[in-house]
Amino acid sequence: MRIDLHTHSTASDGTVAPAGVVEAAADAGLDVLALTDHDSAAGWAEATARAAELELTLVPGMEISTRHEGAGVHLLGYLLDPTYPPLVEELDRVLAGREARLPGILAGLAGAGVVITEQEVLDQVGEAPAIGRPHVADVLVARGFAADRDDAFQTWLEPGRPGFVSRYATATADMIRLVVEAGGVAVIAHPWGRASRRVLDLAALEGLTSSGLTGLEVDHHDHTTSDRATLRSIAESLDLVVTGSSDYHGAGKVGHALGSETTAPEQYERLLAAADLNASGSGRQVPAVVGR
Ligand code: AMP
Ligand code: FE
Ligand code: FE
Ligand code: ZN
Repeated sequence: MRIDLHTHSTASDGTVAPAGVVEAAADAGLDVLALTDHDSAAGWAEATARAAELELTLVPGMEISTRHEGAGVHLLGYLLDPTYPPLVEELDRVLAGREARLPGILAGLAGAGVVITEQEVLDQVGEAPAIGRPHVADVLVARGFAADRDDAFQTWLEPGRPGFVSRYATATADMIRLVVEAGGVAVIAHPWGRASRRVLDLAALEGLTSSGLTGLEVDHHDHTTSDRATLRSIAESLDLVVTGSSDYHGAGKVGHALGSETTAPEQYERLLAAADLNASGSGRQVPAVVGR
């Protein structure tokens, strides 16, 4: 059983449409796929329909932008009711913050002599509800201001660079509670990747576990072998589920091929059991695992 629980489509900042991600997962020999676009369930319907046709198991999810002690923390929410009003309200604030920062990003870039238009970025965004820096990066690449997304981030879009503007994110503990109230389970994405590494020590993870956290994404491209060993022992001590995932973004991120990192079947079963428990405790109508 090959299980990949973190992927992106054109419903956020991936380059492949939701149905195409499902097809690519089947081609890659995956048995279970979670689609986890940023801050939105917009890709679920299309992915669900294609997964049912291809008899691939699909777990609906999303990767939510949160903040803990001033650092960005990405939270994977699985099998949550995307219509739960307090969750919708908070996701809308996050999405509005993504949109609101775009003029600031463009002004910062223009100040450094890099002039691109809002329309060029919106053309990249297409139907995706979550406008991300990767969309800006793709315009910078197309216009010759950067070699690829990675270069665009390092030169223009990371904190400290001319095109960086911070945006609204929900407090991590609050979002974990909202995911649980919406009947889903919460897993911290790449806890020791980039900014979150600074704030997510054992004590912080213990606190978030008290808020209802179910798991840690231990096996991720951004983690070294020693990170993984330490995170695995933290997960064991806090009785957290251990997941592993590719964080696939299509052509948008190199080194993140579908199935390049996977979740062990017994850990996946623990995740589903926790989801069942949270779903019945919440009284919400949660989405089914397609093909379960
Ligand atoms: P944003 O959602 O606007 O905060 O941008 C963060 C997104 O950009 C995440 O989905 C990352 O996958 C992606 N990202 C961050 N750093 C890089 C990088 N150096 N190269 C490519 N993608 C990146
Ligand atoms: Fe992304
Ligand atoms: Fe992430
Ligand atoms: Zn991701």
